[in-house]
Amino acid sequence: MKTGSCLCGSVAFSFPDGPEKVTACHCSQCRKTSGHVWAAFHVPLADLTFSRDGGLSWFESSDWAKRGFCNTCGSSLFYQMKGEATINIAAGAVDEPTGLTLTRHIFVADKGDYYSIGADGADQIEKY
Ligand SMILES: [Zn+2]
Ligand SMILES: [Zn+2]
Repeated sequence: MKTGSCLCGSVAFSFPDGPEKVTACHCSQCRKTSGHVWAAFHVPLADLTFSRDGGLSWFESSDWAKRGFCNTCGSSLFYQMKGEATINIAAGAVDEPTGLTLTRHIFVADKGDYYSIGADGADQIEKY
């Protein structure tokens, strides 16, 4: 099992070993919500178990998705498409060793104007 939490610990969760590939999204919504770039991976919703969720709140960020965050410390934690049986978990929330590797940048055409995406070996996709 892997574990993760928000910064203050009001939200803590676990999921089975397995996810390895992380996607970094550079769209404006993800930059706003995360403070820079939203890097996440997905697991089946049924695989996500909460040991603490007292601080968990959800924000409907678009007609098609909602974002989970800690209402005490503000950590961005989850992204879920409506009606999907999977949930995206913030890579930065996972405790080390994560076993994760960033393999893909998406919405690079929408990236912020204040940085460059370095040649880190990960694929770069204009939109999605
Ligand atoms: Zn917190
Ligand atoms: Zn995005």
